[in-house]
Amino acid sequence: MNLIIMGAPGSGKGTQAAIICKTHNIPHISTGDLLRKNIADGTELGKKAKEFMDAGKLVPDDLVIALLKNRISEADCKNGFLLDGFPRTKAQADALAEIVDIDIALNLITDLNKLADRMASRRVCLKCGFTTSAQDAPDGICKACGDKLVIRDDDKREVVENRLKVYEANTAPLVEYYEQKGLLKAVDGMQSIEAVNAAIEAALK
Ligand code: AMP
Repeated sequence: MNLIIMGAPGSGKGTQAAIICKTHNIPHISTGDLLRKNIADGTELGKKAKEFMDAGKLVPDDLVIALLKNRISEADCKNGFLLDGFPRTKAQADALAEIVDIDIALNLITDLNKLADRMASRRVCLKCGFTTSAQDAPDGICKACGDKLVIRDDDKREVVENRLKVYEANTAPLVEYYEQKGLLKAVDGMQSIEAVNAAIEAALK
């Protein structure tokens, strides 16, 4: 099953993606995580991407498309995968269509006004990608690997607003793109984690 999960920044895409991938035993491919790993490892790509990411802007299409193509060609993607955070532009969607067929594009519908608060309390582990909230991890330690949790540079309030604007301008039109292809399944993303997951599983049947 080749899946895409779409939704605004802070809509819970990453959380749901991790659950879906565990249930269906497919790799979770987050271009944001791949880029953050490149930054942490100090690669050339990481250096180029960081300035865009810290400003809440999209990393240029050619860099992200090359990164995604590489990842998708790995052996673990043969039986399916879930893309989280890609495609984010029409050019990326077109490039993706040239290399694989997508079965379903899930769209998490959320209230954009409430997402800035969600992102302000988000905490991530840069080592393993685990994501949680300040409320659920008051000790600041990753439950998955024991490393330190941090606030993403781009979750700072001043950047969040820009990311939401970028989402509306570039990424929201992709909902229509996949709707026209008959691949879109919309899910209410403002429910509990469990309820959103149940709705996703119903949509995947
Ligand atoms: P995310 O973890 O998906 O919220 O992504 C964090 C940041 O990484 C975004 O705000 C962008 O700067 C960059 N990024 C991730 N995926 C993409 C993509 N498909 N195209 C362009 N930039 C991306």
